[in-house]
Amino acid sequence: MDGLGLRYDQESYIARQVRADRLHQLFHQSVSAVFGSYLAAIMLCWLCWDSFDHSVVYGWIAILSVSSLLRLAMFIAYFRSPDLERTPQRWERTYWITLVLSAGIWGVGALAVIPADNLLSQALVMLFAVGMSVSAVSCYSSYSHMTLASIALVLLPCTSWLLFQSSTIQVGMALAVLVFASFVAGATRKLSEALETAFRLTREMEQAHNISTRAAQTDELTGLKNRRAFFEHAQRLYNHCKSHRLPLCVVMLDMDHFKHINDTYGHQVGDQVLRQMGVVISKSFRATDVYGRLGGEEFAVLLPDTSIEVALDIAEQVTRSIAGSMTGPVHCITASLGVASMEAGDHDLHSVMNNADKALYRAKARGRNQVAVSE
Ligand code: GH3
Ligand code: MG
Ligand code: MG
Repeated sequence: MDGLGLRYDQESYIARQVRADRLHQLFHQSVSAVFGSYLAAIMLCWLCWDSFDHSVVYGWIAILSVSSLLRLAMFIAYFRSPDLERTPQRWERTYWITLVLSAGIWGVGALAVIPADNLLSQALVMLFAVGMSVSAVSCYSSYSHMTLASIALVLLPCTSWLLFQSSTIQVGMALAVLVFASFVAGATRKLSEALETAFRLTREMEQAHNISTRAAQTDELTGLKNRRAFFEHAQRLYNHCKSHRLPLCVVMLDMDHFKHINDTYGHQVGDQVLRQMGVVISKSFRATDVYGRLGGEEFAVLLPDTSIEVALDIAEQVTRSIAGSMTGPVHCITASLGVASMEAGDHDLHSVMNNADKALYRAKARGRNQVAVSE
Protein backbone atom coordinates (compact mmCIF):
# COMPACT_ATOMS: atom_id res chain seq x y z
CA MET A 1 0.00 0.00 0.00
CA ASP A 2 1.37 3.49 -0.89
CA GLY A 3 1.83 6.25 1.70
CA LEU A 4 -1.34 8.10 0.73
CA GLY A 5 -3.44 4.91 0.84
CA LEU A 6 -2.05 4.07 4.28
CA ARG A 7 -2.89 7.56 5.58
CA TYR A 8 -6.48 7.33 4.33
CA ASP A 9 -6.73 3.89 5.88
CA GLN A 10 -5.49 5.18 9.25
CA GLU A 11 -7.87 8.16 9.07
CA SER A 12 -10.89 5.98 8.36
CA TYR A 13 -9.76 3.63 11.16
CA ILE A 14 -9.70 6.57 13.57
CA ALA A 15 -13.09 7.81 12.27
CA ARG A 16 -14.55 4.35 12.95
CA GLN A 17 -13.08 4.31 16.45
CA VAL A 18 -14.45 7.79 17.20
CA ARG A 19 -17.92 6.72 16.04
CA ALA A 20 -17.76 3.69 18.34
CA ASP A 21 -16.58 5.90 21.24
CA ARG A 22 -19.52 8.26 20.68
CA LEU A 23 -21.99 5.35 20.79
CA HIS A 24 -20.39 4.00 23.96
CA GLN A 25 -20.64 7.46 25.57
CA LEU A 26 -24.28 7.82 24.44
CA PHE A 27 -25.38 4.57 26.04
CA HIS A 28 -23.50 5.21 29.28
CA GLN A 29 -24.73 8.78 29.60
CA SER A 30 -28.36 8.33 28.78
CA VAL A 31 -29.62 5.42 30.92
CA SER A 32 -30.90 7.95 33.45
CA ALA A 33 -32.93 9.73 30.72
CA VAL A 34 -35.35 6.78 30.54
CA PHE A 35 -36.29 7.13 34.21
CA GLY A 36 -35.96 10.93 34.19
CA SER A 37 -38.48 11.57 31.41
CA TYR A 38 -40.96 9.07 32.89
CA LEU A 39 -40.70 10.53 36.40
CA ALA A 40 -40.96 14.09 35.02
CA ALA A 41 -44.29 13.20 33.35
CA ILE A 42 -45.60 11.60 36.57
CA MET A 43 -44.58 14.58 38.68
CA LEU A 44 -46.10 17.06 36.22
CA CYS A 45 -49.40 15.15 36.28
CA TRP A 46 -49.35 15.03 40.07
CA LEU A 47 -48.70 18.80 40.36
CA CYS A 48 -51.43 19.69 37.88
CA TRP A 49 -53.80 16.87 38.77
CA ASP A 50 -56.75 19.23 39.36
CA SER A 51 -56.49 21.02 36.05
CA PHE A 52 -55.58 18.05 33.78
CA ASP A 53 -58.13 15.78 32.07
CA HIS A 54 -57.65 12.50 33.98
CA SER A 55 -58.48 10.13 31.13
CA VAL A 56 -55.86 11.88 28.92
CA VAL A 57 -53.34 11.64 31.78
CA TYR A 58 -53.91 7.87 32.12
CA GLY A 59 -53.56 7.39 28.37
CA TRP A 60 -50.37 9.47 28.22
CA ILE A 61 -48.72 7.70 31.18
CA ALA A 62 -49.70 4.27 29.77
CA ILE A 63 -48.16 4.98 26.34
CA LEU A 64 -45.11 6.56 28.02
CA SER A 65 -44.70 3.41 30.18
CA VAL A 66 -44.63 1.23 27.05
CA SER A 67 -42.06 3.44 25.30
CA SER A 68 -39.91 3.66 28.47
CA LEU A 69 -39.99 -0.14 28.80
CA LEU A 70 -38.95 -0.45 25.16
CA ARG A 71 -36.01 1.86 25.76
CA LEU A 72 -35.09 -0.03 28.92
CA ALA A 73 -35.13 -3.32 26.98
CA MET A 74 -32.80 -1.76 24.40
CA PHE A 75 -30.35 -0.64 27.12
CA ILE A 76 -30.38 -4.10 28.71
CA ALA A 77 -29.78 -5.75 25.33
CA TYR A 78 -26.88 -3.36 24.60
CA PHE A 79 -25.14 -3.81 27.94
CA ARG A 80 -25.55 -7.61 27.79
CA SER A 81 -24.16 -7.89 24.26
CA PRO A 82 -20.47 -8.72 23.78
CA ASP A 83 -18.10 -5.79 23.10
CA LEU A 84 -17.62 -6.83 19.48
CA GLU A 85 -21.34 -6.50 18.79
CA ARG A 86 -21.67 -3.01 20.25
CA THR A 87 -21.17 -1.36 16.88
CA PRO A 88 -22.71 1.89 15.60
CA GLN A 89 -24.09 0.00 12.57
CA ARG A 90 -26.03 -2.26 14.89
CA TRP A 91 -27.25 0.22 17.53
CA GLU A 92 -27.48 3.76 16.17
CA ARG A 93 -30.68 3.19 14.20
CA THR A 94 -32.41 1.36 17.11
CA TYR A 95 -31.43 4.17 19.43
CA TRP A 96 -32.79 6.80 17.03
CA ILE A 97 -36.14 4.99 16.73
CA THR A 98 -36.68 4.61 20.48
CA LEU A 99 -35.54 8.19 21.14
CA VAL A 100 -37.86 9.73 18.53
CA LEU A 101 -40.69 7.57 19.80
CA SER A 102 -40.30 8.48 23.48
CA ALA A 103 -39.54 12.20 22.91
CA GLY A 104 -42.46 12.43 20.47
CA ILE A 105 -44.81 10.74 22.98
CA TRP A 106 -43.64 13.15 25.66
CA GLY A 107 -44.15 16.27 23.50
CA VAL A 108 -47.52 15.23 22.03
CA GLY A 109 -48.71 13.97 25.45
CA ALA A 110 -47.82 17.31 27.07
CA LEU A 111 -49.86 19.07 24.37
CA ALA A 112 -52.76 16.71 25.02
CA VAL A 113 -52.79 17.35 28.79
CA ILE A 114 -52.12 21.11 28.73
CA PRO A 115 -55.33 22.84 29.92
CA ALA A 116 -56.57 25.69 27.70
CA ASP A 117 -57.89 27.71 30.66
CA ASN A 118 -55.21 27.45 33.35
CA LEU A 119 -52.16 29.68 32.93
CA LEU A 120 -50.28 28.27 35.94
CA SER A 121 -50.57 24.71 34.63
CA GLN A 122 -49.47 25.89 31.17
CA ALA A 123 -46.40 27.54 32.74
CA LEU A 124 -45.65 24.32 34.68
CA VAL A 125 -45.90 22.19 31.54
CA MET A 126 -43.50 24.55 29.76
CA LEU A 127 -41.13 24.53 32.76
CA PHE A 128 -40.98 20.73 32.67
CA ALA A 129 -40.53 20.67 28.87
CA VAL A 130 -37.64 23.18 29.08
CA GLY A 131 -36.13 21.11 31.91
CA MET A 132 -36.37 18.01 29.73
CA SER A 133 -34.54 19.78 26.87
CA VAL A 134 -31.72 20.91 29.14
CA SER A 135 -31.27 17.37 30.44
CA ALA A 136 -31.25 16.10 26.82
CA VAL A 137 -27.98 18.04 26.38
CA SER A 138 -26.35 16.17 29.24
CA CYS A 139 -27.65 12.80 28.02
CA TYR A 140 -27.19 12.83 24.24
CA SER A 141 -24.33 15.33 23.85
CA SER A 142 -22.16 12.92 21.84
CA TYR A 143 -24.80 13.03 19.07
CA SER A 144 -25.83 16.64 18.45
CA HIS A 145 -28.60 15.66 16.01
CA MET A 146 -30.19 13.40 18.61
CA THR A 147 -30.11 16.19 21.19
CA LEU A 148 -31.66 18.69 18.75
CA ALA A 149 -34.32 16.21 17.60
CA SER A 150 -35.35 15.33 21.15
CA ILE A 151 -35.49 19.03 22.17
CA ALA A 152 -37.66 19.82 19.14
CA LEU A 153 -40.00 16.88 19.72
CA VAL A 154 -40.52 17.70 23.41
CA LEU A 155 -40.81 21.49 23.10
CA LEU A 156 -42.39 22.26 19.74
CA PRO A 157 -45.95 20.86 20.17
CA CYS A 158 -46.76 22.94 23.29
CA THR A 159 -44.70 25.96 22.20
CA SER A 160 -46.45 26.13 18.80
CA TRP A 161 -49.84 25.86 20.49
CA LEU A 162 -48.98 28.68 22.94
CA LEU A 163 -47.65 30.86 20.11
CA PHE A 164 -51.11 30.97 18.50
CA GLN A 165 -53.08 31.77 21.67
CA SER A 166 -54.71 35.16 22.14
CA SER A 167 -53.11 36.17 25.47
CA THR A 168 -49.83 38.13 25.43
CA ILE A 169 -48.53 36.12 28.40
CA GLN A 170 -48.96 32.87 26.49
CA VAL A 171 -47.26 34.22 23.34
CA GLY A 172 -44.49 35.74 25.49
CA MET A 173 -43.97 32.40 27.25
CA ALA A 174 -43.70 30.61 23.88
CA LEU A 175 -41.20 33.17 22.57
CA ALA A 176 -39.11 32.92 25.74
CA VAL A 177 -39.03 29.12 25.38
CA LEU A 178 -37.90 29.45 21.75
CA VAL A 179 -35.09 31.84 22.76
CA PHE A 180 -33.96 29.44 25.54
CA ALA A 181 -34.11 26.54 23.10
CA SER A 182 -31.94 28.37 20.55
CA PHE A 183 -29.26 28.92 23.26
CA VAL A 184 -29.45 25.26 24.24
CA ALA A 185 -29.13 24.21 20.57
CA GLY A 186 -26.01 26.38 20.15
CA ALA A 187 -24.44 24.91 23.29
CA THR A 188 -25.30 21.39 22.11
CA ARG A 189 -23.45 21.82 18.83
CA LYS A 190 -20.33 23.18 20.56
CA LEU A 191 -20.37 20.46 23.22
CA SER A 192 -20.64 17.61 20.74
CA GLU A 193 -17.88 19.11 18.57
CA ALA A 194 -15.64 19.35 21.64
CA LEU A 195 -16.45 15.76 22.60
CA GLU A 196 -15.69 14.49 19.11
CA THR A 197 -12.35 16.34 19.11
CA ALA A 198 -11.49 14.81 22.49
CA PHE A 199 -12.34 11.30 21.21
CA ARG A 200 -10.31 11.83 18.03
CA LEU A 201 -7.25 13.19 19.84
CA THR A 202 -7.31 10.30 22.31
CA ARG A 203 -7.47 7.76 19.45
CA GLU A 204 -4.74 9.57 17.47
CA MET A 205 -2.46 9.61 20.52
CA GLU A 206 -3.15 5.92 21.13
CA GLN A 207 -2.29 5.11 17.51
CA ALA A 208 0.89 7.25 17.55
CA HIS A 209 1.95 5.50 20.75
CA ASN A 210 1.39 2.05 19.18
CA ILE A 211 3.33 3.00 16.05
CA SER A 212 6.29 4.38 18.01
CA THR A 213 6.34 1.36 20.35
CA ARG A 214 6.37 -1.00 17.36
CA ALA A 215 9.09 1.05 15.63
CA ALA A 216 11.23 1.03 18.79
CA GLN A 217 11.03 -2.77 18.90
CA THR A 218 11.53 -3.61 15.23
CA ASP A 219 14.74 -3.99 13.26
CA GLU A 220 14.27 -1.68 10.29
CA LEU A 221 16.15 -3.83 7.78
CA THR A 222 14.73 -7.29 8.45
CA GLY A 223 11.42 -6.50 10.13
CA LEU A 224 12.33 -8.91 12.95
CA LYS A 225 12.59 -7.92 16.62
CA ASN A 226 15.61 -5.74 17.29
CA ARG A 227 18.17 -6.61 19.96
CA ARG A 228 16.38 -4.81 22.81
CA ALA A 229 12.96 -6.29 21.99
CA PHE A 230 14.48 -9.73 21.51
CA PHE A 231 16.07 -9.75 24.96
CA GLU A 232 12.90 -8.36 26.55
CA HIS A 233 10.72 -11.13 25.08
CA ALA A 234 13.42 -13.79 25.48
CA GLN A 235 13.81 -13.03 29.20
CA ARG A 236 10.04 -13.36 29.70
CA LEU A 237 9.95 -16.67 27.81
CA TYR A 238 12.99 -17.98 29.74
CA ASN A 239 11.31 -17.13 33.08
CA HIS A 240 8.08 -18.82 31.95
CA CYS A 241 9.84 -22.03 30.87
CA LYS A 242 11.98 -22.10 34.01
CA SER A 243 9.00 -21.68 36.37
CA HIS A 244 6.83 -24.20 34.49
CA ARG A 245 9.73 -26.67 34.08
CA LEU A 246 9.38 -26.66 30.30
CA PRO A 247 12.30 -27.48 28.03
CA LEU A 248 13.80 -24.50 26.18
CA CYS A 249 16.35 -24.38 23.36
CA VAL A 250 18.39 -21.50 21.98
CA VAL A 251 19.62 -21.28 18.37
CA MET A 252 22.32 -18.74 17.44
CA LEU A 253 22.84 -18.04 13.73
CA ASP A 254 25.70 -16.16 12.06
CA MET A 255 26.04 -15.75 8.31
CA ASP A 256 29.19 -17.12 6.74
CA HIS A 257 31.72 -14.80 5.09
CA PHE A 258 29.28 -11.95 5.04
CA LYS A 259 32.05 -9.40 4.81
CA HIS A 260 33.08 -11.07 1.56
CA ILE A 261 29.52 -10.59 0.17
CA ASN A 262 29.64 -6.89 1.03
CA ASP A 263 33.11 -6.52 -0.47
CA THR A 264 32.21 -8.38 -3.67
CA TYR A 265 28.65 -7.18 -4.43
CA GLY A 266 28.36 -4.00 -2.41
CA HIS A 267 26.65 -3.03 0.82
CA GLN A 268 23.19 -2.73 -0.78
CA VAL A 269 23.25 -6.34 -1.96
CA GLY A 270 24.42 -7.28 1.56
CA ASP A 271 21.35 -5.49 2.94
CA GLN A 272 19.13 -7.34 0.47
CA VAL A 273 20.57 -10.67 1.68
CA LEU A 274 19.83 -9.67 5.29
CA ARG A 275 16.22 -8.80 4.36
CA GLN A 276 15.92 -12.20 2.72
CA MET A 277 17.26 -13.77 5.93
CA GLY A 278 14.46 -12.00 7.83
CA VAL A 279 11.92 -13.71 5.56
CA VAL A 280 13.55 -17.15 5.96
CA ILE A 281 13.69 -16.83 9.74
CA SER A 282 10.12 -15.62 10.15
CA LYS A 283 8.89 -18.45 7.94
CA SER A 284 10.95 -21.12 9.71
CA PHE A 285 9.76 -20.60 13.28
CA ARG A 286 6.46 -20.78 15.18
CA ALA A 287 4.51 -17.83 16.53
CA THR A 288 5.39 -19.00 20.06
CA ASP A 289 9.16 -18.88 19.32
CA VAL A 290 11.05 -15.65 20.01
CA TYR A 291 13.46 -14.56 17.28
CA GLY A 292 15.33 -11.40 16.39
CA ARG A 293 18.39 -9.80 14.86
CA LEU A 294 21.04 -9.26 17.51
CA GLY A 295 23.11 -7.02 15.23
CA GLY A 296 25.13 -7.22 11.98
CA GLU A 297 24.56 -10.68 10.46
CA GLU A 298 23.74 -12.42 13.74
CA PHE A 299 20.32 -13.75 14.71
CA ALA A 300 18.99 -15.65 17.74
CA VAL A 301 15.94 -17.81 18.37
CA LEU A 302 14.35 -19.20 21.55
CA LEU A 303 12.27 -22.37 21.12
CA PRO A 304 10.00 -23.06 24.10
CA ASP A 305 8.73 -26.55 24.92
CA THR A 306 11.22 -28.03 22.44
CA SER A 307 13.73 -30.86 22.94
CA ILE A 308 17.32 -30.53 21.74
CA GLU A 309 16.69 -33.18 19.05
CA VAL A 310 13.76 -31.23 17.59
CA ALA A 311 15.73 -27.94 17.82
CA LEU A 312 18.60 -29.60 15.93
CA ASP A 313 16.20 -30.77 13.18
CA ILE A 314 14.74 -27.28 12.86
CA ALA A 315 18.22 -25.72 12.69
CA GLU A 316 19.26 -28.19 9.92
CA GLN A 317 16.11 -27.26 8.02
CA VAL A 318 16.99 -23.55 8.36
CA THR A 319 20.44 -24.10 6.78
CA ARG A 320 18.71 -25.79 3.80
CA SER A 321 16.11 -23.00 3.55
CA ILE A 322 18.88 -20.35 3.51
CA ALA A 323 20.72 -22.13 0.70
CA GLY A 324 17.49 -22.45 -1.30
CA SER A 325 16.14 -18.97 -0.74
CA MET A 326 18.66 -16.69 -2.35
CA THR A 327 17.89 -14.74 -5.49
CA GLY A 328 19.83 -11.99 -7.24
CA PRO A 329 23.57 -11.73 -7.84
CA VAL A 330 24.65 -13.72 -4.78
CA HIS A 331 24.51 -17.41 -5.60
CA CYS A 332 25.83 -19.03 -2.51
CA ILE A 333 24.69 -17.93 0.93
CA THR A 334 25.29 -20.06 3.98
CA ALA A 335 25.11 -19.68 7.73
CA SER A 336 26.48 -21.48 10.75
CA LEU A 337 24.21 -22.32 13.68
CA GLY A 338 24.76 -23.28 17.31
CA VAL A 339 22.08 -25.00 19.39
CA ALA A 340 21.90 -25.33 23.20
CA SER A 341 19.19 -26.38 25.60
CA MET A 342 18.39 -24.98 29.04
CA GLU A 343 19.96 -27.16 31.72
CA ALA A 344 19.36 -27.35 35.47
CA GLY A 345 22.74 -25.69 36.10
CA ASP A 346 22.01 -22.63 33.93
CA HIS A 347 21.72 -19.52 36.09
CA ASP A 348 20.12 -17.27 33.52
CA LEU A 349 19.24 -16.69 29.89
CA HIS A 350 22.74 -15.46 29.08
CA SER A 351 24.41 -18.71 30.13
CA VAL A 352 22.18 -20.71 27.68
CA MET A 353 22.89 -18.16 24.96
CA ASN A 354 26.64 -18.37 25.70
CA ASN A 355 26.49 -22.16 25.28
CA ALA A 356 24.70 -21.77 21.93
CA ASP A 357 27.29 -19.15 20.92
CA LYS A 358 30.16 -21.53 21.75
CA ALA A 359 28.46 -24.23 19.65
CA LEU A 360 28.13 -21.71 16.81
CA TYR A 361 31.86 -21.01 16.82
CA ARG A 362 32.54 -24.75 16.72
CA ALA A 363 30.33 -24.93 13.61
CA LYS A 364 32.44 -22.11 12.10
CA ALA A 365 35.66 -23.87 13.03
CA ARG A 366 34.48 -27.13 11.46
CA GLY A 367 34.07 -25.43 8.08
CA ARG A 368 30.81 -23.37 8.32
CA ASN A 369 27.41 -24.05 6.65
CA GLN A 370 26.47 -26.50 9.42
CA VAL A 371 24.85 -26.88 12.82
CA ALA A 372 26.68 -27.71 16.06
CA VAL A 373 25.13 -28.69 19.38
CA SER A 374 26.37 -27.47 22.75
CA GLU A 375 28.39 -30.13 24.61
P1 GH3 B 1 32.28 -15.40 9.47
O1 GH3 B 1 31.96 -16.46 8.49
O2 GH3 B 1 33.48 -15.75 10.28
O3 GH3 B 1 31.15 -15.02 10.31
O4 GH3 B 1 32.73 -14.14 8.61
P2 GH3 B 1 31.89 -12.82 8.37
O5 GH3 B 1 32.53 -12.10 7.24
O6 GH3 B 1 30.47 -13.14 8.22
O7 GH3 B 1 32.06 -12.08 9.74
P3 GH3 B 1 32.61 -10.68 10.13
O8 GH3 B 1 32.23 -10.46 11.55
O9 GH3 B 1 34.09 -10.58 9.79
O10 GH3 B 1 31.85 -9.66 9.22
C1 GH3 B 1 30.53 -9.34 9.36
C2 GH3 B 1 30.18 -8.31 8.33
O11 GH3 B 1 28.81 -7.97 8.34
C3 GH3 B 1 30.94 -7.03 8.53
C4 GH3 B 1 29.92 -5.92 8.39
O12 GH3 B 1 30.31 -4.93 7.47
C5 GH3 B 1 28.71 -6.65 7.86
N1 GH3 B 1 27.49 -6.03 8.31
C6 GH3 B 1 27.07 -5.81 9.58
N2 GH3 B 1 25.89 -5.20 9.59
C7 GH3 B 1 25.53 -5.03 8.29
C8 GH3 B 1 24.38 -4.44 7.64
O13 GH3 B 1 23.42 -3.96 8.28
N3 GH3 B 1 24.34 -4.44 6.30
C9 GH3 B 1 25.36 -4.97 5.55
N4 GH3 B 1 25.27 -4.94 4.23
N5 GH3 B 1 26.44 -5.51 6.14
C10 GH3 B 1 26.55 -5.55 7.48
MG1 MG C 1 29.18 -12.09 13.05
MG1 MG D 1 29.46 -13.94 9.97
